[in-house]
Amino acid sequence: MEITIGAVVRGGTSLGYTTGSWRDQRPVLEMEKCKDCGTCESVCPDSAVHVVENAYEIDYDYCKGCGLCSYECPADAIHMIREEK
Ligand code: SF4
Ligand code: SF4
Repeated sequence: MEITIGAVVRGGTSLGYTTGSWRDQRPVLEMEKCKDCGTCESVCPDSAVHVVENAYEIDYDYCKGCGLCSYECPADAIHMIREEK
């Protein structure tokens, strides 16, 4: 497909592109500090935070390590660590 300047590319394709390989920092969630507020799920630009069996989990296939969830978490429950590759 040729893409010209200003073109609008077909949407709804993000599931097909795992962005986890971009990551140089990894968010780690401390469940015992989590207050179940849902902020991390709301702010994640990659929709990489989900509730699984009543607990928040980060999907590292899609998390690109931007740190927004850690920055916004009101309970200081998410910490960014250097990604080991
Ligand atoms: S933002 Fe922090 S406290 Fe809120 S659900 Fe996420 S990890 Fe838990
Ligand atoms: S680091 Fe960024 S991409 Fe990864 S879960 Fe947090 S907000 Fe989403």
